[in-house]
Amino acid sequence: MTHVVDPSGKGATVRLRADQRNELARIGRELSALARSGPALPGSIAERMTRCGRANCACHADPPRRHGPYHHWTRKVAAKTVGRWLSAEQAEDYRKLVANGRRLHELVGRIEAIGLEAVEADPRWRH
Ligand SMILES: [Zn+2]
Repeated sequence: MTHVVDPSGKGATVRLRADQRNELARIGRELSALARSGPALPGSIAERMTRCGRANCACHADPPRRHGPYHHWTRKVAAKTVGRWLSAEQAEDYRKLVANGRRLHELVGRIEAIGLEAVEADPRWRH
């Protein structure tokens, strides 16, 4: 079963199977719920244990008792990794925004995967 989508209104068509159409509708509902639930953050938050510069500190002992955990949020900005240290309270708050961001990217990835499948199946390709 196929369905014709014509977003341009100029006769260009991409055919979708019923399961693809249903998945897009599900993704649409989830995206809507996600946006209404709040913002999203790119990147990830990691726990870091560190050593300081004081040679006689316990963090240099054997075994070491490092400082932390500290919460480090990293993300890509213009293809470079940018990091910021967060308070424990910020980390707790931002974790759910980071989870929203990850889910958002998964959903966008699924929409693109369906697009690629549909385009692969386009009978107008010249082989
Ligand atoms: Zn130390």
